[in-house]
Parts: sequence; C-alpha cells; structure tokens
Amino acid sequence: MSFTEIKAKPAPEETQSCWSCGSMRAARFCEACGKVQPPAPVDYFSFFGLPRKLKVNVPALEKDFYELSRKLHPDLNARAGTQEQEWSLQQSSLLNDAYRTLKDPIKRTQYLLKLEGIELEEQSKSATEKARASGETKKQIVPPDLLEEVFELNMQLEELRMQKKMGEDDPALIEEIGRQKLELEEKHDALLQELESDWKAWDTLMEKGPSGSEVERKQALAKMVDVLNRRNYIRNLVRDVSEALEN
Ligand SMILES: [Zn+2]
Repeated sequence: MSFTEIKAKPAPEETQSCWSCGSMRAARFCEACGKVQPPAPVDYFSFFGLPRKLKVNVPALEKDFYELSRKLHPDLNARAGTQEQEWSLQQSSLLNDAYRTLKDPIKRTQYLLKLEGIELEEQSKSATEKARASGETKKQIVPPDLLEEVFELNMQLEELRMQKKMGEDDPALIEEIGRQKLELEEKHDALLQELESDWKAWDTLMEKGPSGSEVERKQALAKMVDVLNRRNYIRNLVRDVSEALEN
C-alpha cells in the first residue's frame, strides 16, 4: 500500500461512519460489517472505552482484549494486502500496548501519571549505570521512614565488601544482610497495597467529574508519585544488596 493511496483517504480522526458500509459511528471495527476502521489517536483507557480510573476490572479487561484481538486480527482472510490489513496491524499493536499497560497495576498508575503530565524519575538499572559511568552521583532521596535502616544496611554492605576483598567470610553478617533484604522485599510488596488504596482518592475525583477540586486532584497524584518513588528506591536497594551478596 503506497503512501499516496493512504493520503487520498480522509484523515482517520475524521471518520465517523464505517469506511466500507457507511453505517453508524465506528471506532475500532464496524459493528455492522466487521471491517476494521482507521486507528484514532486515543489514550489506552479510551481505547478500551474505560474512564480514566485506576481500579480496573482485570478479568473483564482480559475478556475484552481477547475479543478485540480476534476482531482486529490482521490475518483475517479478506484483509490480505489491503488498507484494512494495514489498519488492523496498527489497531492490534495499539491493543497490545494498551492491554499490557492497563492490566499491570504499576504500569497503569505510571501511565495515568504520564497522561496527567507527570514523569517519574528514571531509576532503571540502565539509567543508574549510565550515571555511574559518567561519574555523576545519582541523587536519590532516601525516603524518611527508611533513613536509619538504609544507613545501617550501607555500613554492613561496606563491611561485607571489605571482608570479601580480604578473602574473609562472616556467615553471621551474610545472614543479617539476607534478613534485611527479606524485610525490604516485604516493604516493596506492601507498597503495592498502599498504592491500590491511594487509587480510591483519584477514582472518587473522576466520578465527581469537573466539580472535583484541582487541589485534591494534585494531592491524589502527588501521593501516588510518592509511593512509586519509595517503591523504586527499595527496588534499587534490594538490587544493590543482591549484587553485594553475589559478588
Ligand atoms: Zn461497516
């Protein structure tokens, strides 16, 4: 399918009725004839026809996903080599991205924050390593409730590294560090529960619609950012501890 042929069609977002049979407003595929429609630029929530709320019925989402996968599949017989197949490919890829993002509680929350204009600090392994390589000290704010623990843990990790360098072995220290790692992992999991309870504030505001206050909106978002940052911090710490134990 050449570029000019695509350009000759009306812009996808202008399509209100099915390009094939002309009946009704068709978003992803036509209810009447089943033809796939040109993809419209929508966010993942809208793609599934969901409100921008964080509590999602995942089994229902999964059911929708499988049904849509079937209806939008690019390999359906009559579609080969046509403009419709091209749209099928685009719609299917959008469907997969939307599903992967919305089914996961963390990815879903991060995506919502992004839609609301908030990008979390990049704390991935590659970002940390890049920062280390460039000699730049990555400024990471220690969550206040972890200050004491982190301080102690870092001292123990330092001791462990020293002992390893000297070829010494201290099983009691290794056991103690392992115990702390387990506690951190439990905290990491508990933060998911905390995040899920923070969703309620946001979802309630979404139900109120435009009458919800801007301040409340910002507070609800900030709370989620805080939980995700703490969770990322702990995840990085657990990774550092694992590395120290393995090396
Ligand atoms: Zn149709």
